[in-house]
Amino acid sequence: MKILLILLVVWAIAFIVRILMRSQKPATQIPSSKTDKLHKCAFCGVHCPEDETFRYKDNAFCSKEHLDQYFQYKDDKPE
Ligand SMILES: [Zn+2]
Repeated sequence: MKILLILLVVWAIAFIVRILMRSQKPATQIPSSKTDKLHKCAFCGVHCPEDETFRYKDNAFCSKEHLDQYFQYKDDKPE
């Protein structure tokens, strides 16, 4: 009978600990990351996360190639 009581106490502690762990989860949740912000590529219009964006002055680009092509196109613009 004593063993049953000990098991019950251990189960109750485990149960309480589980509830406490669960209730702490929202607090430890990762805050919305800075990569949530999307930038539109000035060349092709694709939206890219901020950490994958190439920036030049006020323009954002999805890739280094589009950054280069954008300014190449601007410079070589036929008249
Ligand atoms: Zn692009």
